Amino acid sequence: MKSFENIDARSVKEAVSLLQKFQQQKKVAAVVGGGSEYLQLMKDQVMTPDYVINLKTIPGLNAIREERGGFRIGALATLAEIEEHSVLREKLLILSDAAGEAASPQIRNAGTIAGNICQRPFCWYFRSSHFNCLRKGGQVCYTVTGDGRFHAILGGGASYIVHPSDTAPALVALGAQIKIAGPAGEKTMPLEKFFVLPSVDFKRENVLNPGEIVTEIYVPIPKPGSKGFYHKVRERLAWDHAIVSVATVVQSSGGVVREARVVLGGVAPIPWRAAGAEEFLRGKKLDEANAQKAGEIALEGAKPLKDNVYKIAMAKLLVQRGLLASV
Ligand SMILES: Cc1cc2nc3c(=O)[nH]c(=O)nc-3n(C[C@H](O)[C@H](O)[C@H](O)COP(=O)(O)OP(=O)(O)OC[C@H]3O[C@@H](n4cnc5c(N)ncnc54)[C@H](O)[C@@H]3O)c2cc1C
Repeated sequence: MKSFENIDARSVKEAVSLLQKFQQQKKVAAVVGGGSEYLQLMKDQVMTPDYVINLKTIPGLNAIREERGGFRIGALATLAEIEEHSVLREKLLILSDAAGEAASPQIRNAGTIAGNICQRPFCWYFRSSHFNCLRKGGQVCYTVTGDGRFHAILGGGASYIVHPSDTAPALVALGAQIKIAGPAGEKTMPLEKFFVLPSVDFKRENVLNPGEIVTEIYVPIPKPGSKGFYHKVRERLAWDHAIVSVATVVQSSGGVVREARVVLGGVAPIPWRAAGAEEFLRGKKLDEANAQKAGEIALEGAKPLKDNVYKIAMAKLLVQRGLLASV
């Protein structure tokens, strides 16, 4: 591993100004929460920062508070804390479930919610120092002619990575907001708008600008009559990212859907909101036939690679299953 200097930040303001300072000095600096993902990239020489700014030393940034009809979750709250928080679990079960599905107990104890949302792609070409892929400044996305069995079937184009986070689809389905601190102050935006498709910029996964860090996620409690579901298919039962996952939140009354959110993971470079399926379901009875049709609509426009055609049928079925479990 290339040698680097670790700096324990004491406040968000200090972390932001350190990032700014190193950028001006043309040094490479990165923030880490648990470090469970980023340190691996450093060991593999995929990332070679001069400075690592440790956010875990910022007091209070891991708080989980119920407030104004929702939960404020500090950037440093760990996946284990989110999985085990009893009130959050009662009111935002799909988020607790999604956090509990990520990685292994050890990683969930160290890994933070911000780190989980901001983690880099788990594409084997991106993670290998032997391949200078498109996302690392090269000319090619190797999945097109190489092995793309776990890669994107929707929203690819230039680069076929899939968004690796389990919590992100659940958070988008719940309508979460993300708070960002940077040199220009604080801003809040819908989490859905945080992620960047390769057609917009194939070198980044989110809208964070240099000097900006995530400080908080706000998750509204779903309206009365809502039910949610998170389900993940993976190759092995432990330590594995989603091949396909689905988060559904359905608000219904008298057996009729008022509002549905359907978000897929593992199929696209961003958590993929199936807006067509959501629209189709509004005002309909959520029975097997409509759930199946919604699954088909959700996968319209899918463009699989040669090795991952199987994901289409898997995702359709998962949407159907998620919807039927949400009534
Ligand atoms: C073997 C293995 C299996 C895994 N399986 C899964 C899985 O099945 N599902 C899943 O969802 N995840 C999985 N993960 C990823 C795991 O959940 C992440 O490692 C963890 O959530 C990252 O949290 P962290 O705080 O350790 O992030 P870090 O390693 O500290 O950071 C990760 C990235 O986020 C950035 N970052 C961190 N905090 C902030 C912040 N506050 N603001 C801006 N940027 C920030 C860092 O700069 C870095 O780029 C797996 C990881 C491993 C190593």
